[in-house]
Amino acid sequence: MAENKKKKFTNLLSNDQNIRLLVQTAFLILILVIGYEFYGFVRYYQTDGQTPYFERPPGVEGFLPISSLMGLIHFITTGDFNTIHPAGIVLFFLFFLFAVLLKKGFCGWVCPVGFLSEYLWKLGRKLFGRNFVLPRWLDYPLRSLKYLILLFFVWAIVTMSSQQLSEFLYGKYNKVADVKMLLFFTDISAFALGIIIALAVLSLFIKNFWCRYLCPYGAFLGFFSIFSPLKVTRNPDTCTDCRHCTEACPSNIMVHTKIRIRSDECMACAACITACPEKETLKFRLHKKAKRSVPVRVYALILVALFIIGTGLAMLTGHWKNSVKPDEYKTLIQQIDAPEMEHVN
Ligand code: SF4
Ligand code: SF4
Repeated sequence: MAENKKKKFTNLLSNDQNIRLLVQTAFLILILVIGYEFYGFVRYYQTDGQTPYFERPPGVEGFLPISSLMGLIHFITTGDFNTIHPAGIVLFFLFFLFAVLLKKGFCGWVCPVGFLSEYLWKLGRKLFGRNFVLPRWLDYPLRSLKYLILLFFVWAIVTMSSQQLSEFLYGKYNKVADVKMLLFFTDISAFALGIIIALAVLSLFIKNFWCRYLCPYGAFLGFFSIFSPLKVTRNPDTCTDCRHCTEACPSNIMVHTKIRIRSDECMACAACITACPEKETLKFRLHKKAKRSVPVRVYALILVALFIIGTGLAMLTGHWKNSVKPDEYKTLIQQIDAPEMEHVN
């Protein structure tokens, strides 16, 4: 019986996409735990201590990419590692590192929105028998939308002086930016809910609609992923042109026509590698002539190890927990709707 179970588990892990599902699920569980703890933390102060106390999980700062980018730029230009959202800077830098070393592995292996989007289009395919691919004349301009949104944010940040950045980072608004984000979802307006539902419906029909066209974080990572030495690489000598790889690609990349997948849209999901029936034909490789490939499970191991080492080092060196004291949080959360808590720029 135990032997059978072991065999089943080994069989399950022999499929690379199951390994990816395992990693995605682990990150999703981690994020749900963080969300639960953070909700408890905010409720404690909202109810003046009537609900159980939860310690604030610093990982919640991973959901503040704009503040984290500002913090990183401020750190690079002034040497000051802000103590308001230090974990945000660490996570932002780690995910940037993922992109530079491992393509857009964050999108394909970590991001809960990417995970949800993937299962939405898979559900859509089950329900309607297919997904829709937008014609090129519409797909290209729509894909640039996420870069325009990213440019808007980057422009707004780089035109700020160091003093303005510092005032923002240590200001009241930034201190509770994570709380405001939580309240956005817990007290969601009908308009915002309508937009989220519309995006979810579109994702049923069009693969990764949000990620592909609108996500500025994905655009940022996609841009830097172009420089990653690790890329899906096809060996044209053994390729039979069966096109299973292209059919499997959620980013609609014409894998069977390329030698190296340089596209900023590649999420390193390895669906193409799993779909390829020819041994040693489609692999992660460091360069196109590299004799040795990087197996998908090794890729997964590197990604998870980088995450654990990066966050662990930040914890050990005191760059994880922030410096906002419980009393200050109490005041800030109880006055969250006051005009001085709004973002002005
Ligand atoms: S090219 Fe391969 S690894 Fe990249 S997104 Fe497409 S299926 Fe995933
Ligand atoms: S799935 Fe493999 S063999 Fe088929 S076209 Fe793609 S790379 Fe070539």
